[in-house]
Amino acid sequence: MHIVHIASECTPVAKVGGLGDVVYGLTGELARRGHTVEIILPRYDCMRHDRIANFHVAYQDLWVPWNGGAIRCTVWYGDVDGRQCFFIDPHSDEHFFDRGSYYGYWDDPMRMAFFSKAALEFLVKTGKRPEVLHCHDWQTALVPVLLYELYQEALPHQRACLTIHNFKHQGTTDIHLLHAAGLGRPEYFLRADKLRDDHSHHAINLMKGGIVYANFVTTVSPHHAWEARHTEMGFGMGHALYVQQDKFKGILNGLDYDYWNPRTDSHIPHHYDRDSLKTKDKNRKALRQRLWLREAKKPIVAYVGRLDSQKGVHLIRHGLFYALANEAQFVLLGSSPEMGINDYFWHLKQELNDNPDCHLEIGFDEDLAHLIYAGADIAIVPSNFEPCGLTQLISLRYGTVPVVRAVGGLQDTVFDRDHSPKEVEKRNGFVFEHSDHAGLESALSRALRLWHGDPAAFRELQLQGMAWDYSWNRPTEEYLQIYAFIRHQ
Ligand code: ADP
Repeated sequence: MHIVHIASECTPVAKVGGLGDVVYGLTGELARRGHTVEIILPRYDCMRHDRIANFHVAYQDLWVPWNGGAIRCTVWYGDVDGRQCFFIDPHSDEHFFDRGSYYGYWDDPMRMAFFSKAALEFLVKTGKRPEVLHCHDWQTALVPVLLYELYQEALPHQRACLTIHNFKHQGTTDIHLLHAAGLGRPEYFLRADKLRDDHSHHAINLMKGGIVYANFVTTVSPHHAWEARHTEMGFGMGHALYVQQDKFKGILNGLDYDYWNPRTDSHIPHHYDRDSLKTKDKNRKALRQRLWLREAKKPIVAYVGRLDSQKGVHLIRHGLFYALANEAQFVLLGSSPEMGINDYFWHLKQELNDNPDCHLEIGFDEDLAHLIYAGADIAIVPSNFEPCGLTQLISLRYGTVPVVRAVGGLQDTVFDRDHSPKEVEKRNGFVFEHSDHAGLESALSRALRLWHGDPAAFRELQLQGMAWDYSWNRPTEEYLQIYAFIRHQ
């Protein structure tokens, strides 16, 4: 099958969070199974060009109709760890992707709508006719809309699958976007069964458009599929998902087991696997050296991730102080696009600067993230909501015991050592229910007690976590079933 992913991120060239990892992992596994897979991305000025091989111009003058005129684009080709990627590089005064950051601009919906349209134009002009277009999140949710409303003639047999990684961000904007993208007809698109935002009736909602128009919609874990339909975690999409329920499903994300592999990971100094778990101690030592932590008979508790209200910032903070007060060290790697949260953690970092048991690294650092997964003993993921979550999966793979809140994909992947209904030998971490201090403590205290009081049992739990198969194997099978289903519609 020929599949094209149209996405705003792909690890390691353009990664902000899990979306990039998913595009990277799923496309890798699809290609391994013999499918023809291509990825279309924006060419951001800030992306990691050093991670792209054989970078060259693939298409010189792609004219993309836009705003009553047209914008000329260059399309670049590059190889990203064996993946065939095309990068859209528009030449216009808006400098859509030359802004120093991936997201965070007032015209983000316009930037991404342009990218969505350019991706389709690229397919049309180059004669590429994939069976399936797979788009991701609100950023490329306009693809199915454009495909159906404007590209029927040029791309009549192409089908679209939309994966929603995060319902919180939906791409809500005004009707100018309809005109710019060539869709026009606000009276037609501003209807409840089309793109109209359910809360703000003069606004269009790109995610909703994607849900309505895509041939299939997925989110990234079965439990979150339920939450999105039935709770406030759908951020207003519950009704649209109810209407489209026959084409909506939760598929648990996988992890790229080549990229995230403690036996071969080039980012970590000491390689190990289940049979040589002891070697993890050397990575703990290396982590301490890198972050100026003292050597001590204490476990390292870690948090890696975006510092967003979604992630339970108040509990990350509480976990930090609880760990320090209970014979543990704490490391944090994260950053936030929100100034207030970033400033808060900068202050915390200054306050704790002289503490030899604690290190806060504010920023994005792929290399350090790997060392933390390899060197830490316990990872906390106290999210308010978590569609899937990859940090707990990476932690399990690296023998780092996850302490998570029972929500979304965390609930589907982490099973409490003491209370889970799962067989004892399948339990792999610690889980708590309530998003408050007592909740977090109820799980973190048990993890710390086990580390100090029964090292053999702690080691057993690490090994049980490492034994789980959260690779792309099974999820890819499920996506292929969906592709096969929509192809014949
Ligand atoms: P989300 O997609 O909501 O950000 P996920 O848990 O699905 O969260 O994915 C997070 C991914 O981003 C993981 O691979 C994690 O290691 C990585 N990551 C998040 N923040 C950072 C950071 N500051 N530095 C390095 N990697 C990070």
